[in-house]
Amino acid sequence: MDGTRTPHVAPVLILLGPPGAGKGTQARMLEEKFGLVQLSTGDLLRAAVARGTPAGKEAKAVMEAGGLVSDEIVLTILNDRLKAPDCARGVVLDGFPRTTGQAEALDDLLAKAGQRINAAISLEVDDAKMVIRITGRFTCGGCGEGYHDTFKPTKTDGICDACGSQDMKRRADDNASTVMSRLDAYHEQTEPLIRYYDSKGALERINAMGEIDTIRREIARVVAPITA
Ligand code: AMP
Repeated sequence: MDGTRTPHVAPVLILLGPPGAGKGTQARMLEEKFGLVQLSTGDLLRAAVARGTPAGKEAKAVMEAGGLVSDEIVLTILNDRLKAPDCARGVVLDGFPRTTGQAEALDDLLAKAGQRINAAISLEVDDAKMVIRITGRFTCGGCGEGYHDTFKPTKTDGICDACGSQDMKRRADDNASTVMSRLDAYHEQTEPLIRYYDSKGALERINAMGEIDTIRREIARVVAPITA
């Protein structure tokens, strides 16, 4: 082995932005295009709630109220997932970190593995538009395709365009009152992370109010050199 060569460090990307900014959609794009693994702490928590694990039982009420689940639970769940072999390909963190404590814990965790954050991509959106975006969204339970009552309805009511499934799902916390609490939690606890990553020289700002494909191209332009 060439001892002078820097060891390969899998990319670690973060998607920052309020609920409804499109983190999940863009994380799935990064998964498909660059072979990264999407890690959504929201998805991991919803799975724990569905399984009725002790952590899931504790998280359920907090999620329904639109608050933030404790760092302890979130970090345990994320840590377990990061140990899976597929994460060696590189990860895109969607919805994590959400507090300064989580960001510092992530830095420590990565430093122990000789890794670091490659980029924190901030999806910048107009808050007022997020409520309508979130309250209208639904997903196909069969294939995961995302839809919206106004902006992207299914061609035939109740049937997925992509796979034909009739199993359409809406998130329990995508209702108007919970959305307001989630936006508040974002501004109070997560927004300071923009400055945190900016001070580390890792921040990339993306205007996320336009067409999904335009945003996708902008993000891909940032990520391509990192994964090359
Ligand atoms: P999301 O799917 O990212 O919108 O997350 C849904 C809900 O899960 C949030 O409103 C929080 O209650 C909880 N959650 C997800 N990720 C985190 C996190 N990193 N820290 C604390 N709570 C989280």
